[in-house]
Amino acid sequence: MQNKKICFIGAGNMSRAIIGGLIKSGYSASLITATNPSLPKLDALAADYGINTSQDNVPSASAADVIVLSVKPQLMQAVCESLAGVVDDKLLITIAAGIPENRYHDYFGKQVKLIRTMPNTPMQLGLGMTGLYAPAGMPDEDKAFAESLMRACGDIVWVNEESGIDKVIALAGSSPAYFFLFIEAMIEAGVEMGLPEADARTLAQQAAVGAAAMVKQNPGLTPAELRANVTSKGGTTAEAIATFEAGGLRTLVKDAMGNCIKRAEEMA
Ligand code: NAD
Repeated sequence: MQNKKICFIGAGNMSRAIIGGLIKSGYSASLITATNPSLPKLDALAADYGINTSQDNVPSASAADVIVLSVKPQLMQAVCESLAGVVDDKLLITIAAGIPENRYHDYFGKQVKLIRTMPNTPMQLGLGMTGLYAPAGMPDEDKAFAESLMRACGDIVWVNEESGIDKVIALAGSSPAYFFLFIEAMIEAGVEMGLPEADARTLAQQAAVGAAAMVKQNPGLTPAELRANVTSKGGTTAEAIATFEAGGLRTLVKDAMGNCIKRAEEMA
């Protein structure tokens, strides 16, 4: 990755996750600045990663080559308006949900060079998943930089249509919470069956880690084939799977993801 100066506007959870991944990948801390109105988050980032911090967005953004817009969507307009004087020619990367690319040009009051991305929270472990969208005409060099930035924290996919970003939210941005819910439900059931909570957690979490790793490390097998391999006819797993199927798990997953996308569209 080229050594560009990166400024994160909004030093919250996602910025911390991406900065952590960047530093782990060997990116120079001296090239990274994070801004935030309040000091405690900045002090923690400086202490943990040795990056530069500031409470002042404009000079920090002005000094950067690449600006990562990481504030909550409802604050984005005000932040963009305040940065309008310093963004010319810079690459802007936004991680905000729900704000279409064309709206940023209105916020800045001019055409800007902006790539939309949708990361997720496992970025903080280097196990993130990010979808990226670049409008037509984006220079290859800028696309390559955005891609390598996100790759430092996990895997990536490019979407060709901007609507693909909402699908990324349903598949990866929001989905860690789906898996948390499933693990939570398994732990609850284990405790009801009489297991100590700590043991139920260890059993459920390690099964989830192992299953995800088996999917990832066996690209030649579909998840359905992996499932068939561990489901003997008339056995215990078959009984559990039949219960999920009878309860409409697949329909539930489709409905949940559909509603997730609908909400992303409403937020736009
Ligand atoms: P967060 O609240 O943890 O971080 C945002 C930070 O921005 C806060 O620390 C806040 O103090 C700071 N801030 C507020 N006003 C500011 C200003 N004027 N200038 C600079 N900083 C300011 O939120 P987050 O979870 O990190 O989310 C940030 C963005 O990431 C959102 O737009 C969200 O849609 C997107 N996102 C979040 C997730 C997720 O799972 N949390 C996933 C993908 C994308």
